[in-house]
Parts: sequence; structure tokens; C-alpha cells
Amino acid sequence: MVMSDKLRRERASLRLVCACEECEHFVDDDKVCDLLYPTTPHRLAAFDVPDGTPIFFCKMFEAR
Ligand code: SF4
Repeated sequence: MVMSDKLRRERASLRLVCACEECEHFVDDDKVCDLLYPTTPHRLAAFDVPDGTPIFFCKMFEAR
């Protein structure tokens, strides 16, 4: 999937969560995943990208 204005608007209006910082497995103090997955592709910053940039969702995401 790629970032788009439509996705950005839906994420805001529907309050969709998908980033590490919004996930039960994210350890805030250490900024790591307690399942030991790499977080860089799934952090909030990875979704703050220009339209057309590929984005990656984590299959192990669990909302807090
Ligand atoms: S399970 Fe996935 S979304 Fe959750 S903290 Fe780990 S890497 Fe991030």
C-alpha cells in the first residue's frame, strides 16, 4: 500500500490505529517491540510520508 491523502483522511476521521506507538507490544521506555520485531517500518514517523510512499502494516499489531 502507498500513502495517499485519502488514507491520511480516513486514518484521522475513523481514528484508525496501526503504528507501534499505538500498539500493545510497544515498550515506550525503550522504544522497542516486546515481540522483538523491527519497529522502524511501523513507527508513527513511517506514516508521516509524502503521497505515493510505500507504507507497511504490522500483522502482529494489537491496539492498546
Ligand atoms: S507488534 Fe508490530 S506494530 Fe506492535 S510494536 Fe511490534 S512491530 Fe510495532
